[in-house]
Amino acid sequence: MSKKPLCAYFCMEYGLDPSFKIYSGGLGILAGDILKAAHDLEMPMVGVGILWRQGYDRQVIHENGRPMDCFPEYRYDFLKDTGVEVSVEIRGREVRAKVWLCDCFGNVPLYLLDTNLPDNNDSLLTGQLYGWFNEERIAQEMILGIGGIRALEALHMKPDLYHFNDSHPAFAGLELIRREMEKDGITFQEARESVRRSIVFTTHTPVEAGNEVHSHDLLQYMGAYNGLDKEDIIDLGGDPFNMTVASLRMSYMANGVAQLHGETARKMWAKVEDAAPILAITNGVHNGTWQDAQVYSAYREEGDLMAAHGEAKRKMIDEIERRNGVRLKEDVLTIGFARRAAPYKRGNLIFGRMEVVEPLLKEGKLQIIFSGKAHPNDLTGKDIVAEYYAMSQKYPESIVFVQDYDMTVGALLTRGCDVWLNNPRRPMEASGTSGMKAAMNGVLNLSVLDGWWPEGCEHGANGWQIGDGYEGEDQDELDRESLYKVLLTEVIPTYYEDKEKWAKMMRASISMATDRFSAARMVHEYYDLMYSQKPEENTAEKKASK
Ligand SMILES: *Cc1c(COP(=O)(O)O)cnc(C)c1O
Repeated sequence: MSKKPLCAYFCMEYGLDPSFKIYSGGLGILAGDILKAAHDLEMPMVGVGILWRQGYDRQVIHENGRPMDCFPEYRYDFLKDTGVEVSVEIRGREVRAKVWLCDCFGNVPLYLLDTNLPDNNDSLLTGQLYGWFNEERIAQEMILGIGGIRALEALHMKPDLYHFNDSHPAFAGLELIRREMEKDGITFQEARESVRRSIVFTTHTPVEAGNEVHSHDLLQYMGAYNGLDKEDIIDLGGDPFNMTVASLRMSYMANGVAQLHGETARKMWAKVEDAAPILAITNGVHNGTWQDAQVYSAYREEGDLMAAHGEAKRKMIDEIERRNGVRLKEDVLTIGFARRAAPYKRGNLIFGRMEVVEPLLKEGKLQIIFSGKAHPNDLTGKDIVAEYYAMSQKYPESIVFVQDYDMTVGALLTRGCDVWLNNPRRPMEASGTSGMKAAMNGVLNLSVLDGWWPEGCEHGANGWQIGDGYEGEDQDELDRESLYKVLLTEVIPTYYEDKEKWAKMMRASISMATDRFSAARMVHEYYDLMYSQKPEENTAEKKASK
């Protein structure tokens, strides 16, 4: 077998441990699970990221029933000082960044940049993840991209290729291009073709408006051109500068994060000339982190799966009681819905016709657990959080809202609920990894056919589908009615009247997810389908001279 290439993995956030607050949500947890799987499989990888001093956001409900953001400062004594410092010119001033090493994953070191140094310009830059406004976002991305490449060099790391997880690290490409030009005295275009042979890119956002764009005036002011010419930068990312388009043009291969998302992304970017081909590599989750050991051993050893699940459910109910002072019932069907508070996730779809749901809540047939967080600047998202909270006040016996959604809450709920609900407006969920965590724990998915679910779903056998994949004007209404129908005619009767079938479905769910939706499978595919497919020098040169 040939030697695996060393991949330098760049990401704005990493969800490695609940107490290590350098992540926000799905993107970071994916990145964390990738590092962990690369560690387990002994794959050569190095991570590059940022040490966010204040993390993303701690969000609690204020007395007025609305979410309130807090930004405590975190300290991490386990990080090692590499002694390396790099600097990046931002707004015409040198900004220094110290490089920390997180060596918790042995063969997969994670290097984190930190501007929080005495006498530094912009020392607060690496404060809040996704915080503040446009200029600061660009500056943070310059630290990650340009600073990240400089850090690897100062550490004497020689990666075979660079993986940009989403487009935030795109400026790393500009730093690689600038270096090639200086080293070999070649043109921008030549350097771009050469650099391109060692970059791959994962795109995540299935909605065009969700992709990050910046005006050239602002980029120029910030110094993001990194000494390169404006025309060349426009040629790369368009005008305004689209970070995803630039990433597609700087990489030899790109991927979407589920099979359906691959199709969506190919359609969405078909008009971009000279873009990398977009494959689909479906996300996976790290079993060691997200799969309950007791549930898994009951599954593997043909033990009492219901009892193991009951234990996980009790743990969740205990913790919710400790946090909220409300004790849910262990023998009532419990649905979980925990996601970033964004309108397309349609968390309130189930409340569309209360005359259907209210009797179930009042008769003790159904309990619902919500959790979610809105971006500090997202007022619509905050309305959604406030609505979950208001519903929990209105139905205190049967609806709870768990504040400050994070990895701890995510793990608790994807182990302890009976059913995991997911009803985004199609096709806006790129992947949706919380459903994979649930599936591995025998928590049955009840979901529209979006993201990963079309790949895993066998309706009535390992979970249920809502609707038939329809996309159109009346999607909200049709999905809501379908949700009610499946809930009333399949989920509830099976739960209360056919425990044997329920146990069988749990088993089928665990069997479907454990390997196919594992981070190990995903990382193998990254190496086999992307990293090991680096183009030969001459073919790329032929393309460049066309
Ligand atoms: C798994 C996880 C996510 C991603 O799940 P989605 O299904 O994409 O919403 C986000 N946040 C937390 C805390 C998680 O554990």
